[in-house]
Amino acid sequence: MRKKVLVLGANFGGLTAALAVKHELHGDVDVTVVSDRDYFLFNPSLIWLPFGKRDREDITFQVAPTFETGDVDFIQSAATAMDPDAKSVTLANGQVLTYDYMIIATGTRNRDEAIQGFSENSNTITTLESAIKTGEAWKKFLEKPGDIVIGASQGASCFGAAYEFLFNTSYQLKKAGIKKEVKLTYLTSEPFLGHFGIGGLPHGDQLLGMFLKKEKIDAQINASIAHIDKGEIVTSEGKSLPFAFSMIVPPFSGQDFLTSVDGLANPAGFVKVKPTYQTEKWDNVYAVGLAAAVDAPWQTPTPVGVPKTGFPTEQMAHVAARNVASQIRGELPMEEKDFADIPAVCVMDAGNNGVLILADKMLPPRKHGLMIPGPQNHLFKLGFEKYFLWKMRKGKITLP
Ligand SMILES: Cc1cc2nc3c(=O)[nH]c(=O)nc-3n(C[C@H](O)[C@H](O)[C@H](O)COP(=O)(O)OP(=O)(O)OC[C@H]3O[C@@H](n4cnc5c(N)ncnc54)[C@H](O)[C@@H]3O)c2cc1C
Repeated sequence: MRKKVLVLGANFGGLTAALAVKHELHGDVDVTVVSDRDYFLFNPSLIWLPFGKRDREDITFQVAPTFETGDVDFIQSAATAMDPDAKSVTLANGQVLTYDYMIIATGTRNRDEAIQGFSENSNTITTLESAIKTGEAWKKFLEKPGDIVIGASQGASCFGAAYEFLFNTSYQLKKAGIKKEVKLTYLTSEPFLGHFGIGGLPHGDQLLGMFLKKEKIDAQINASIAHIDKGEIVTSEGKSLPFAFSMIVPPFSGQDFLTSVDGLANPAGFVKVKPTYQTEKWDNVYAVGLAAAVDAPWQTPTPVGVPKTGFPTEQMAHVAARNVASQIRGELPMEEKDFADIPAVCVMDAGNNGVLILADKMLPPRKHGLMIPGPQNHLFKLGFEKYFLWKMRKGKITLP
């Protein structure tokens, strides 16, 4: 009988893993994807959505046709519970699915509750809905400008998005002709500028410092937010930062249903995995992308998370798919790729400029790491968005 592989999540990790398992086994496997959303979202473009440079249709596509072409079953519903010993998952629609192998790629949720007043009084861009809401706040801000605070809170991990949004905001302020009258502050839990949650890169802090100075942006590093009130962020040190518009990247946690499975996830809900991306406790259950737990190899004065970006997510999904295929063939799952050893490849946009980040490893110690600034990176990011959406929609997951 054909083996059943169940994939939870249908974005970077889930879509890649599902189609890769099919590919590895030349179709000789039943793959089902379950996701609470019926669309793929290119999250990196959420930095542009609040400024009206993108709308929902530009950065999403329906996943059902992609899975149909790939001979993968798709169910739109949220997983609400799982029992790895019984090899079953319960869905919000009441269905109970069984599997031989499972790959968890359910991403994260915003841990709004970590910052008092965050959801009521600030904006973020980490989900489609929140980015749309931030766009409404931006329109109101343009009618009545004032100070702006943009940042990443204690425990946040998605620093790249905070920097991109910061520089895009500065660019938009110039375009609107109000840059001089707005005080722009970058508030971050990073111990130094350009740490990015990956320990920084050579000369990164000087480069970022230079950019901030050029854009007349005030920086507050090592910051921890005590609470956010209407129009005011108060740090743990009691410093008050008034704002007419703000965007804060909050800390993330794994999806709640994962925390209720004994031995599966860490207290923040991220699934504990081996370098094969098998879970520590169940050899037939894998986790990839944002859902997987990664420990930071450092301690910072203010807690800083590790960003699990798109490239490592795809890499993890391929490793997991190859290992599942090996197990189905009766072989040992031999492929290993520690998250820390995956190369870092990222383009950060700054409105009409940008920075290319390249490093031989996601986390230190590294042999090489460099940041290449320049307007070509903005164009590269635009091209990459189009290419990546095409690649995923067409299910061409073996392309780079
Ligand atoms: C604003 C922003 C900007 C970014 N910019 C970049 C960038 O420039 N470059 C880069 O490399 N990376 C960037 N990233 C990171 C990148 O988006 C992630 O690496 C990537 O999305 C991780 O993919 P994933 O599949 O693990 O998780 P996600 O993309 O979050 O997907 C999770 C999937 O699980 C589904 N799901 C959630 N809960 C359930 C449930 N209970 N049951 C079933 N399905 C569920 C969701 O619907 C979704 O399909 C950015 C992220 C953000 C938020």
